[in-house]
Amino acid sequence: MTLKHLTTALAAALCVAGAGAGLAQDAVPPVQKVTAATPPPKLVVMIAVDQFSADLFAQYRSHFTGGLARLASGVVFPSGYQAHGATETCPGHSTILTGNHPAHTGIIANNFFDLSAAREDKRLYCAEDETVPGTSSRSGQYAPSVDHLMVPTLGDLMKAHDPRAQVVSVAGKDRAAIMMGGRQADELMWLAPTGLTSYRGRALSPTATQAGTAIAAAIAQSRPGLTLPADCAAHDIAIPIDKGGTVGTGRLARDGGDFRRFMASPEADGAVLAAATALRQARRLGEGEATDLLILGLSATDYIGHGVGTEGSEMCLQMLALDRELGDFFTRLDATGIDYVVALTADHGGHDMPERNRQNGWPAAERVARTLDPAAIGKAVAEKLGLPQPLFHADGPFGDMYLSKALTPAQRKTALAELVARYRAHPQVEAVVTAEELASRPISKRAADTWSLLDKLRASYNAQRSGDFIVVLKDRVTPIPESGLGYVATHGSVWDYDRRVPMLFWRKGLAGFEQPNAVMTVDILPTLAALIGLPLDMSKVDGRCLDLLSGPESSCR
Ligand SMILES: [Zn+2]
Repeated sequence: MTLKHLTTALAAALCVAGAGAGLAQDAVPPVQKVTAATPPPKLVVMIAVDQFSADLFAQYRSHFTGGLARLASGVVFPSGYQAHGATETCPGHSTILTGNHPAHTGIIANNFFDLSAAREDKRLYCAEDETVPGTSSRSGQYAPSVDHLMVPTLGDLMKAHDPRAQVVSVAGKDRAAIMMGGRQADELMWLAPTGLTSYRGRALSPTATQAGTAIAAAIAQSRPGLTLPADCAAHDIAIPIDKGGTVGTGRLARDGGDFRRFMASPEADGAVLAAATALRQARRLGEGEATDLLILGLSATDYIGHGVGTEGSEMCLQMLALDRELGDFFTRLDATGIDYVVALTADHGGHDMPERNRQNGWPAAERVARTLDPAAIGKAVAEKLGLPQPLFHADGPFGDMYLSKALTPAQRKTALAELVARYRAHPQVEAVVTAEELASRPISKRAADTWSLLDKLRASYNAQRSGDFIVVLKDRVTPIPESGLGYVATHGSVWDYDRRVPMLFWRKGLAGFEQPNAVMTVDILPTLAALIGLPLDMSKVDGRCLDLLSGPESSCR
């Protein structure tokens, strides 16, 4: 079974009009060049491909023939930046449709700590409501929520401006659907073992329910491996991993009911695209008086990157499948005759597992040392200074660290000095920065590729949410101590391989051009707002409008 079959089967099950259906082909007007006088598009399609780094886009660009080739013929910013320091999924998605850095969205990490929270471990998931009794921040135990997002999204602003505007958000991950969808989305959902799900207590629409049933049926079926195309043959090299087994030569086969492997395969993206197609049709998005917004979060690239790295046969299969799936999705949209604009970017970049990086010309790549385990460091420092434990809270070997509330002001000072010195002395640590250093610093107005380490961390710093100090690892140190099946590589660092993402814009009749200088994902909201004539208070955003019209005309009003 190919992915096209899955999408087609889902589309058929959902009664989605295929290419050629809907509006008659001869009713589609000839392509008119988009100018400053062209009316706004009727539908904005925002696509975030999780972990789709600028490096992956560059590597596979010449191999794309489908949807990504179409976008690459439009307006291309190959050096988009998730400019901030903590390049994780939740912060990254929070920048895309808010125009704000995590410093202002409040989404500083996937998980952060609130030492005054009622729950014992004080740890909060970025997209949960921790006040719901009986919940924890652990996967499957939290109540999904948008409450932590401190700013409105494009959809929220569109609906405030014109209540007729419809907003639909569908993603592989809850945090992608939520952080891009915002508070006012008409429908918001993500993939689950049962197909599709949403907030607790929020019923799915009949169309979403039907799509979820079809997706659940697809998950229940086993899937044979994909055929490796010739383009991917050079990637087909087995790399041993620490806990036994190899990665690199996979074909994305899985057993029936294996949801984890379903998510780490092009099937998951196909399911989101098929559901989005069905919801577009059911709600007639793009066919009303106001411009509508359809948001898609495609997560498979990220699960594959984490599970088997970015340079094996598996990622090659995924890149080519994503291109095909997006091509099919756009073909279906074309058939409706709707004037739509597509923006595609990523929540962060990524890079390969150190074992393969060392084989591919990067001998410096290594895994984080066990000596950077925060629990061990906290214990040693507390014992040395005679302070209560736990001394501080952390979500891993780097990032935000929160000193215990049990410390007196004098103890905090002593503990902070000792911890900073100890971390700084570690050979894998690039820098340790205190909240105090960041608090007084303005957010940089310079191009994101020139930002200093402090500039990056400042864009991730929020006084209410950030830790007391932040640990930055050296570049090419992968913060996973040991590779195991399903988790070999990651992102989240301040380094450009995790910050650089493509930013692509396409609309029928819009002349393409390429701008290689650095732009930012916080520029997407002002750019789209201008394109659809949505008034925007520029003092409330960190980004700027990108002019999508080549030549002297401008799409920025
Ligand atoms: Zn991500």
